[in-house]
Amino acid sequence: MAIMPALMRQSPGFLQRFYLIEAVQGVALTARHFFVNMPRHVARGLGFKVGKGNTVTIEYPEERRQYAKRLRTRHRLAKRTDGSPRCVACMMCETICPARCIHIVAREHPDPNIEKAPAVFDIDIGTCVFCGFCVEACPEDAIRMDSGVVELAAYTREGLLYHMDQLLG
Ligand code: SF4
Ligand code: SF4
Repeated sequence: MAIMPALMRQSPGFLQRFYLIEAVQGVALTARHFFVNMPRHVARGLGFKVGKGNTVTIEYPEERRQYAKRLRTRHRLAKRTDGSPRCVACMMCETICPARCIHIVAREHPDPNIEKAPAVFDIDIGTCVFCGFCVEACPEDAIRMDSGVVELAAYTREGLLYHMDQLLG
């Protein structure tokens, strides 16, 4: 069976070689968006309520888009009922992380039924690629990406290093 190439390039027709029709079509498309959106922006500017069309700008940060529930946002560490981290310092998340941005130091847990707990649990959000592998790998459901925090800008690289107390917060 013949294998079709993934991308087949069509040779342009006679009129297309002049690019005139394509240029006019492009200008017409831009003009249509302009004349459809401009009255809506003016109406919004004057305080009228305008439905959220796909092309009306969201006035961030005063106005926020509703995020999908499955959106991966900044990590958080789940807590036990006593407020301590559920994490048992198994290192699964640190091992699977493709960006190597998780750093854990384990310690003994005072409860003999729990083998270990994290003494240090840092995530360098500056190098995290938000793949979610750490969440998938965790056997304790101890690390989640459902904090809802998406504004992660910082003035320094150190400001992007999140420690356990911040991740538990
Ligand atoms: S989301 Fe991906 S890159 Fe970020 S800490 Fe988790 S495993 Fe690492
Ligand atoms: S995979 Fe879960 S339990 Fe294991 S170290 Fe990471 S957060 Fe803790």
